[in-house]
Amino acid sequence: MRLGWAGKAAIAASLPVVVGLAAFLLVTVHRLGKVTRDSLDHSLLREARGVARAVARGPFDAGELQKWAHELGQDTGARITVIDEDGTVLADSHVDDKDVGALENHGERPEVAEARAKGEAIRTRHSRTIDRDLLYAAVRVPGSMRVVRIARNLAEVDAALRDASRTFWYVALGVGGAGVLVAALFARGLARPLGELTAAAQRVEAGDFSARVYPHGSDEVARLGHAFNRMTVQLRETLARAEAEAARLSAVLEGMNEGVVAVDAQERISFVNGAARGILALPPDAEIAGKRIYELVREPRVLGLVQAAASGRGPVEAEIRHDGPPRRLVQVRAAPVGTGVILVLRDMSRLRRLEQMRTDFVSNVSHELRTPLASIAAAVETLQDDGARLDPNEGPRFVQMIQRNLRRLEALLDDILALSRLESRPETLPREPLDLAGVVRAACEELMERARQAGIALTVRAERSRVVGDGVTLRRVLDNLVVNAITYTPRGGKVDVVLEPRDGAATVEVRDTGIGIPEEDLDRIFERFYRVDKARSRSAGGTGLGLAIVKHAVGLHGGTVEVKSRLARGSTFTVRIPLAAEAAPTGAADAGASGEMAL
Ligand code: ADP
Repeated sequence: MRLGWAGKAAIAASLPVVVGLAAFLLVTVHRLGKVTRDSLDHSLLREARGVARAVARGPFDAGELQKWAHELGQDTGARITVIDEDGTVLADSHVDDKDVGALENHGERPEVAEARAKGEAIRTRHSRTIDRDLLYAAVRVPGSMRVVRIARNLAEVDAALRDASRTFWYVALGVGGAGVLVAALFARGLARPLGELTAAAQRVEAGDFSARVYPHGSDEVARLGHAFNRMTVQLRETLARAEAEAARLSAVLEGMNEGVVAVDAQERISFVNGAARGILALPPDAEIAGKRIYELVREPRVLGLVQAAASGRGPVEAEIRHDGPPRRLVQVRAAPVGTGVILVLRDMSRLRRLEQMRTDFVSNVSHELRTPLASIAAAVETLQDDGARLDPNEGPRFVQMIQRNLRRLEALLDDILALSRLESRPETLPREPLDLAGVVRAACEELMERARQAGIALTVRAERSRVVGDGVTLRRVLDNLVVNAITYTPRGGKVDVVLEPRDGAATVEVRDTGIGIPEEDLDRIFERFYRVDKARSRSAGGTGLGLAIVKHAVGLHGGTVEVKSRLARGSTFTVRIPLAAEAAPTGAADAGASGEMAL
């Protein structure tokens, strides 16, 4: 059996009491024996002296002396012996009268010899005569060398003493037991609140901060209980603060564009944010936990950076290629934090792609500008020649050529500027509520003549569709789509423009019965300067930027554009722009705005 805290405390508390009590009793019993013996010695001596004085007052003859001694012995219960000068026993209370003479000489008995020499003696000795421990008191009879000796059986005295000490032991056991009981009760009283405290502490350890103890009184244990309650409250507040802090930190880290990876002193990954997971194409958290950085990022330089940062050496920044998929160019910066290292990752791929796009754009623009400029230069050079300038046919032909190329340059610059405005300062675009039907109709009306000249039937049907955005930009979207439809549709074809609100979006469809777009080019026609047929586009005055502008402009309005096309059958471009929330019920004045209208 294991002793509980209370049991141990009870034993600990009562042990000194029990030991002290036992020692006290031992000493007391010992002292009692000694005192009893001392007083017995004295009384026996006193008795012996009395008997000696009585014998001295004699004279008794031998027979009388024996009789007297016998009677005295009967009265007192002690053995009384009278010994003559030569050691002969004159009388003995415990011996029959006739046997006295037969007793051996007592002159050499130590107490007798001592009494004779010193006057009196007290001795404890084994009596051979009766085979017992006896206490002897011997006293010389005044005026002679006779000795009176009184013997008492010690067995009685010892029995009395044993009796007394047994009583003492019983009392001691009783008192000791009571002491242990009191100590146990006291310990239990102490153990109960401590037990409650332990249970509450275990609940706190398991994460339950509502655990409380209810201390009674004002002793140390109660004070401990109050302190425990206060500590729990503080612990909960501190933990809540720490948790809020951690949540904020992880929200910040999760919201960052840069990837963040925390690595501990053993190069194990301890934290990864969403951006890092994306950049490094990492598996879910459960598979990352506890892995070493080089198991997940197989680029030796990353480990080099971690070690360099951890040991305070440089360089701690590098640009690495991460063999995706997708492949990425990643800028990695490492900084020591505590015993670990924090890696900050920046995906440079997009930046590089944008840089590349810009470079491509500049070279494309230069290329696009060079052709009309070269034509203009050639025409001007020819016109410098009087013959050509004054020739009634050649002269106007070259001037027209210059005019045509100037228009192309103008159109090109106009598109470049439009695109750059949409790209660089989208926030400056006006955002006003407008009816897209007005924009669609205006665009078609203006292009009606151009369609007619190209031998194409252009129809428009526009239902009222309110959107929020920039009318000028949306007009450019419509212009580009309808111009393309006319341009890439042979004579005799049809172009239908339909606007209607559908599924929460103002939906414009520009359908033509033209040449169509090859399947493999469908994805690319929205790229800048991408043309399926360069010569045809150029001869029609196209810049190759129209659809790029459309895509960008629609995107800035929160919309989408898509194309469906079949070669030699025609194409349909569909633009969807979210409808604006209606501010007021439709008025009667707007009624005529919808409905089909052939222009
Ligand atoms: P472009 O100024 O050359 O028309 P766009 O960006 O407007 O430039 O169009 C890109 C290319 O897409 C065109 O060169 C043409 O090949 C193709 N394309 C655009 N619209 C149509 C259409 N309606 N039918 C056939 N091809 C078209």
